[in-house]
Amino acid sequence: MDRSRMRSTVMDLQMYYNPELHGEVRLDTNTNVLGSNPAAAAYLRDFRGDLNGYPNTYSDGLRDALANLYGLERDNFVIGSGSDEMLDVSFKTFTEWGDGSVSPVPSYTLYEYFMKLNGGKCVGVDLDEDFQLDVDAMLKPKGKVIIMPSPNNPTGNCFRPKDVEEILNRTEGIVIVDEAYGEYADDTMVDRVNEFDNLIVLKTFSKAYAMAALRVGYAVASRSTAEMMNCVKIPYSVNMVSEGAAIAAVKDQDFIKRSKQMVKEQRPLLSAGLKRLGFEPFPSDSNFILAKAPIDHAELVAKLKQKGVLIRDFGSKRRTENCIRTTVGTEELNKLLLSKIEEVLSEC
Ligand SMILES: *Cc1c(COP(=O)(O)O)cnc(C)c1O
Repeated sequence: MDRSRMRSTVMDLQMYYNPELHGEVRLDTNTNVLGSNPAAAAYLRDFRGDLNGYPNTYSDGLRDALANLYGLERDNFVIGSGSDEMLDVSFKTFTEWGDGSVSPVPSYTLYEYFMKLNGGKCVGVDLDEDFQLDVDAMLKPKGKVIIMPSPNNPTGNCFRPKDVEEILNRTEGIVIVDEAYGEYADDTMVDRVNEFDNLIVLKTFSKAYAMAALRVGYAVASRSTAEMMNCVKIPYSVNMVSEGAAIAAVKDQDFIKRSKQMVKEQRPLLSAGLKRLGFEPFPSDSNFILAKAPIDHAELVAKLKQKGVLIRDFGSKRRTENCIRTTVGTEELNKLLLSKIEEVLSEC
């Protein structure tokens, strides 16, 4: 395809993961296997809002609910259409054309996408053998932005808080800690945002909160950093319905507790089940497991799809050679996954 009309910095971008679905069980996106957020669903059922009016410009209602949840202030929050919008806004706010930004390898592929969208370059820095941060190597390229998910996607582990803190102390750049799966982990950087002016913590309603369909995410930062980002983000980017549903979800912390408890119980069982079938699972602090497959990764993922179960293939990427990633399901889902894998293995 002749792409010469495209802006040079985006010419090599490809479309994102978009599988054709035929009713498969989805263990490929790390959303909440308990199903729709109940409080958000109830809010939608009863919604009688005026569709003729614009939503609040900066989602102040949701910012207040989050301020209350974390013991911070409204001005510490920036709300977006998914935390992906907050990634975009971060690079728009803090990088110049041509700037390099740093992210670990392996981590979330959309970081490079948003860097390139904003005319920047992605500098990938390898994690160590245990998938932990190499602090000196992360600092060496002097990234305008240093970004990492903790728990990391696709490896599943958290980074050591002392390493994140050292990076924050030693860089002049912005440090983004993407806590998309933070509800499943014990550590968070949210309560440190007033201490580090260069810290941005990203959170989302797409994963543990079980409302990815509604596209709500947010950044938590010092008041001055958050204000800079609010000036750059598109006004009204979060619609009124999604904001209301998110406020309802914040008030139902019991659902989050139940979700966390389910993952805590099921994760070691799924990991042991995978081991029995010849996989090498990596330790996880999240609601998904990365594991080296005992047969060819592409064949495994394709055959599982034929049997109605979707998992995610990372096997062609450096550092995750022949690995797959699966969401931790309920007891029933994990049994289904393991039995379908067993069928695939016996057919090979
Ligand atoms: C799923 C995920 C997100 C969430 O993105 P949203 O736009 O909020 O849906 C962000 N970061 C990582 C690492 C993820 O895996």
